[in-house]
Amino acid sequence: MEERKNIFFYSRKDDDSLGKTAFLKEAADRYDFYVVDKHEDANIIVSVGGDGTFLQAVRQTGFREDCLYAGVSTTGGLSMYCDFHMDDTSKMVDVLANENLEVRRYPTIEVKVDDNTSFYCLNEFSIRSGVIKTFVIDVHIDNLHFETFRGDGMIISTPTGSTAYNKSVNGAVVDPMLPCIQVSELASLNNNRFRTLGSSFILSDQRKLVLNVVQDGNDYPIMGIDNEALSIQHVESVEVGLSGKMIKTLKLKDNSFWHKVQRTFL
Ligand code: NAP
Ligand code: MN
Repeated sequence: MEERKNIFFYSRKDDDSLGKTAFLKEAADRYDFYVVDKHEDANIIVSVGGDGTFLQAVRQTGFREDCLYAGVSTTGGLSMYCDFHMDDTSKMVDVLANENLEVRRYPTIEVKVDDNTSFYCLNEFSIRSGVIKTFVIDVHIDNLHFETFRGDGMIISTPTGSTAYNKSVNGAVVDPMLPCIQVSELASLNNNRFRTLGSSFILSDQRKLVLNVVQDGNDYPIMGIDNEALSIQHVESVEVGLSGKMIKTLKLKDNSFWHKVQRTFL
């Protein structure tokens, strides 16, 4: 494997984050890494902050598949995407210096809104009503018209995103070793006129989900890709599926996905 020596640091731009990043850059320098100014020149991309910062680091560097991503937490403890802590730089150096380091791969979602180019998500794609009235979506799985949803909206999450927004609406936590997407409802209406499945469901990587927004004056929903709003306004159809892109992170000892779930929630 090519030598992993070029590090790009990504952080928020506030004084505290910049100060912590400067400290990490010095440490990297001391251990013979090259700190680069452009992410294109890096083979390791380090996010400094929380899970939200990690999502931004991946997005701002274009969901690269040819480098390793690592999250350094600047908060109280470790989190779902931050396997290292600010106060333990030596652990990170040890891991990166190891020739036989193992990587783990996180599946991502690809979203296509009408005829726009595709967007990728590491946590989830969310679509919500932009007005007070309920929002109607015809939900298709492959070519099957599966249900007509009426309510606030839907969340389509990746396995690693299953512990985020998806979990707040009672979705299941999914092992990232399973390449799949989970569809969860936001406040569906269920009565004698309107019916949805009512529970979250999980689709294989072979499936395509198509959401057709019923054009009845509520076709300006709020759409989110991870922690960013999509600037597209009017929408008719959204196609969602697992993308071919996987995000590579470092696999550490005693730090499996289920260790992290336990550490974070139990
Ligand atoms: P935020 O509003 O600060 O995030 C909410 C919390 O979610 C933060 O504590 C964040 O951790 C955590 N988080 C992010 N990704 C996670 C993951 N994969 N598993 C477990 N926790 C996770 O905004 P943000 O930090 O930019 O994060 C964006 C994410 O927030 C979205 O992708 C969405 O999943 C989630 N969100 C949740 C709700 C909800 O639960 N009702 C509503 C909107 C958005 P850090 O503090 O370490 O950043
Ligand atoms: Mn956050």
